[in-house]
Amino acid sequence: MHATDATRIYFDRAAGELDLSESMRRLLSTAKREVQVQIPIERDSGELATYIGYRVQHNDARGPFKGGLRYHHEVDLDDVRALAALMTWKTAVVNIPYGGAKGGVAVDPRGCSTRELERITRRFVDAIHDLFGPDVDIPAPDMGTNADMMAWIMNQYGKYHGFSPACVTGKPVEYHGIPGREEATGRGVGALTLKLLGRLGRRIPGTRIAIQGFGNVGTYAAKFLADAECRIVAVGDASAAFHASAGLDVLELLRHAREHGGRLAGFAGGDAITGEELLAADCDVLIPAALGGVITSGNAAAVRAPIIVEAANGPVQPEADAIFTARGTILLPDILANAGGVTASWFEWVQNRQHYQWGINRVRQELDRILGEAFEQVWQLAQSRQVSLRTAAYMLGVGRVARATVLGGVA
Ligand code: NAD
Repeated sequence: MHATDATRIYFDRAAGELDLSESMRRLLSTAKREVQVQIPIERDSGELATYIGYRVQHNDARGPFKGGLRYHHEVDLDDVRALAALMTWKTAVVNIPYGGAKGGVAVDPRGCSTRELERITRRFVDAIHDLFGPDVDIPAPDMGTNADMMAWIMNQYGKYHGFSPACVTGKPVEYHGIPGREEATGRGVGALTLKLLGRLGRRIPGTRIAIQGFGNVGTYAAKFLADAECRIVAVGDASAAFHASAGLDVLELLRHAREHGGRLAGFAGGDAITGEELLAADCDVLIPAALGGVITSGNAAAVRAPIIVEAANGPVQPEADAIFTARGTILLPDILANAGGVTASWFEWVQNRQHYQWGINRVRQELDRILGEAFEQVWQLAQSRQVSLRTAAYMLGVGRVARATVLGGVA
């Protein structure tokens, strides 16, 4: 199934519950603008290489377009389109004043030097600088991109438009970024997992958690949940996966990853398992925090966790989602579960625009408040309408965007 078909299924379900007209559904399910650009660079070897870059601006009814920039060799327009729509519903669910967008470059960043990545990023900005900016569209990091690249984006954009730190978020703290942005998505995943456990009447200490992916999101989620006395019983990344029923030592995992180029392979503090065994681990909460589309109709039946928290974007395919709904597995959907990142990006944008800095405590406090309110609204809606948390989250997001569209007018 294409990524856009998957998000469309959830959108249609929510639009049905909201009784949206066909014309409104068409408006909300198509992107406002899609661009594809050529990015030619000279490689370090002197050879010419040409990459393709995309930016899809899905909807700006509630504020400027907002969404990450992904560098991955499999990025294509369909992917970017689906992720852009997800951003529209995500910013609306947490009620921050943005729309949704996504961008990407079809390149394997691991096969490029830092200088090559800088040239790609700056050429991409040259190609699209008229289409984004603080009041228009604000990119941020995603898979394969990092804070340094956001600094290059700000710097290159400034060559055309002058000093504009709010044109991009996720920047280094020493270069107009904010403390608390890097941890925000994982922290939000952790905090929302605790809220969900609380609502389900489960005891938090000792809760057994399995996490797929040990990058930005997975590491901070693991640390947050371990600090809350949960037991991290399984963790895996692209290189390896490990299990320990008594709980893995998260600080040791972090140390190992730091000393081994971010990879878990070779970790000695747990039993080695396969990636599929990780997804099927005997645990209370499964947190897929790596790639999209990893839980399918083929492996959903093997998943034993009664609770799934979608830290990655789109990790559960719709057929698997139907299996989970039918058997009563509780699933916290991506558009709420991983919204901490874009929420902290909003804090960065606000501070950049005010030329003012908050402290880390204020960032965490505001993040917890916004995610907590969104969680309660989604939970209440799911209860009152007797729908899944995913459908409730989509109803809240799609409903807000539809309302803003009517209020703003389309003429
Ligand atoms: P990352 O690149 O920092 O980490 C990704 C992790 O996934 C790595 O540990 C990698 O080894 C692992 N991985 C890759 N392929 C795998 C496989 N086949 N099996 C198991 N593990 C595999 O990325 P991230 O920023 O942590 O993002 C993870 C997910 O969260 C993505 O879907 C991303 O779109 C989503 N997300 C991230 C943010 C953010 O702020 N970083 C915000 C919202 C959503």
